[in-house]
Amino acid sequence: MTTMQAAVVEAPGADFRIETLELGPPGPDQILVAIRACGVCHTDLVMRDGHLPVRFPSVFGHEGAGVVEAVGANVDTVQPGDHVLISFDSCGGCGACHDHQPGYCVEFVPRNFMGLTGPDDGGIARGDVAIGGNIFGQSTFATHALAYSRNVVKIDRDLPLEILAPLGCGVQTGAGTVLETLDVHPGEAIAVLGAGAVGLSAVMAAAIAGAGRIVVLDRHQHRLSLAKTLGATVAADDLAQLGNGFDHIVDTTGSVDLVSACIDKLALRGTLALVGAYPGDPKLPLDLSAIMSMGRRIVGVVEGGIDPQRFIPRLIAHYRAGRLPLEKLIRLYPLSDIAEAVAASESGAVIKPVLIMEHGPR
Ligand SMILES: [Zn+2]
Ligand SMILES: [Zn+2]
Repeated sequence: MTTMQAAVVEAPGADFRIETLELGPPGPDQILVAIRACGVCHTDLVMRDGHLPVRFPSVFGHEGAGVVEAVGANVDTVQPGDHVLISFDSCGGCGACHDHQPGYCVEFVPRNFMGLTGPDDGGIARGDVAIGGNIFGQSTFATHALAYSRNVVKIDRDLPLEILAPLGCGVQTGAGTVLETLDVHPGEAIAVLGAGAVGLSAVMAAAIAGAGRIVVLDRHQHRLSLAKTLGATVAADDLAQLGNGFDHIVDTTGSVDLVSACIDKLALRGTLALVGAYPGDPKLPLDLSAIMSMGRRIVGVVEGGIDPQRFIPRLIAHYRAGRLPLEKLIRLYPLSDIAEAVAASESGAVIKPVLIMEHGPR
């Protein structure tokens, strides 16, 4: 049993509150990680508000990074002392997992949203009370977490954990959508709706792919200015300025009105990628003949449509080459300031807050 500090959400919509909790020992397939950093992702706030099938109370956090402390008997992919990033979990046995598309794993919902419930199954407890843990196979708004070989990616020890933590969800989602799912080619035109962490990661990836016109739409001027330093060729704060004829449009906003208005801005054979959160399962009226006759596509994308074990090393190579300047998106906060970090994310003031976990001398 590990005693740890963690941020708990007691009930849907409640604040994150730091508490001392117990984490069960690693099971045979689990990896105990001393967490050093964890990004705050929009999905954490969607889960906090109870819009996904999560349990309460729960510990969220799913962009964890840290150092392996112990491994279960069946784990041979990492060992204590290894530096790791933690991504989403998947079963490894279904068709999607075999196709290296674990974002579409048949067990995605139970493994990533429902988690584990108590110390007897490797979960988290407050005394006798089970707390929802192992969200996204991690729950890393905490000083310690249990993860798995499939969602733990070993990285070199010289790399900064606090800058690379968001690769495990937000960055791979935006970059994977552009580089893998859409497979953007040199010279193509792309529009990115929303300049948050996912949208700006899509912009950086579009620049890496050599896209010609890279247009970003957002309400916040400081985000648009940043987008231009990351490769955007046009920054629009109004739909009327977005332009037309896009080979690719990436929606990260979840705005039904925006998505609806953008379908006609696709070029012939253009593709709209739905990457945002769409709480409440909104419906869209579609001009079917315009989609059919112009060969347009609409595709849903989970976590970029990538396999973290293959894709995160590619992103790290881009980071080392200076093509993914993630530090421009990030502001660091101690775990104890999680309320401030969440507020900065919700107001749009900070694109990617990253929480830092202090560990005393051992
Ligand atoms: Zn699977
Ligand atoms: Zn996320």
